Amino acid sequence: MTEFEGPIFRATTHLSETIPLHVHLVKGTHYAVWIDSGVKAMLPELMATMDRAGVGPGDLRFILHTHSHHDHIGCNAQLQDRTGCLIAAPGHYAAWHADFERHYQEFARPFPRLVPDTPELRAEVLDPLDAPRPLDLAIDEGAQFNLGGGVNLRAYSLPGHMLAELGWFEESTRTLILGDAVTGLDWPIFHSHLSVAGYRDSLARIRRLVRELGVTRVLFAHFPPMAPDEVDGLLARAAAYIDEVESTLIRLIAGAPQVTLEDLWTGLCARLERQREFRALNMVAAHVQDLLARGVICEVETQVYELR
Ligand SMILES: [Zn+2]
Repeated sequence: MTEFEGPIFRATTHLSETIPLHVHLVKGTHYAVWIDSGVKAMLPELMATMDRAGVGPGDLRFILHTHSHHDHIGCNAQLQDRTGCLIAAPGHYAAWHADFERHYQEFARPFPRLVPDTPELRAEVLDPLDAPRPLDLAIDEGAQFNLGGGVNLRAYSLPGHMLAELGWFEESTRTLILGDAVTGLDWPIFHSHLSVAGYRDSLARIRRLVRELGVTRVLFAHFPPMAPDEVDGLLARAAAYIDEVESTLIRLIAGAPQVTLEDLWTGLCARLERQREFRALNMVAAHVQDLLARGVICEVETQVYELR
């Protein structure tokens, strides 16, 4: 665990050798909140972080989510049972908190013909989760939480990675706390985004917010803490990454008379050397929708495309 100066504390685990997962605890004079709850195996780390921060079970009032992916909501039931805290997240994915079968099917198998239902896939999605807990509060842009002593959190909408995601600005330290609003860029898998335009807009918005809010540092779920100039570099890399995915897909479509969604998924993963798994497929489908909406390609039959 790394402790920061002031009211923000961090618990860390690793999802793989190369992918860390950070979860942040924010403490005011009235109460404390977790920004996300990590994976279910992190509970001892979360409790130890609360101990070191001087946050007793009765002091934890909310889990405020950035987004509702399995590795960000995994300790909700355990934390709620121990502390009585309430769970708040964007309402768009409320069902993913209450119904894990739906979480699994909508996350991993929106294209069931291409992604078989296997015990391994179920384990990958469901093992990080403890138990279903419905949202207590559906929240969106502008939600504010006054934790006391000047510690204040405000939500900013940053969709793209998912169709609904929030970033949290902590006023007293001018810290912006993000989940996956900037995705992993160099991972063995495509971390994925579900709205191309949304992701591009959110990258531009983070850059503006850092300036407008006078942000001094940005905390991420899967990157180390960054100063504003480092964030600018990361945002530029993320924008180049989207462009590379898009231009590779356009080249694949241009290289054959017609291509299927499956061809694009397979071809993109081969060319950019990522694992061919469900997140990549979801991301390719999002790019296809974006290229259709912009009139770059057309759909000649179901899930078969050509350049216009
Ligand atoms: Zn995520």
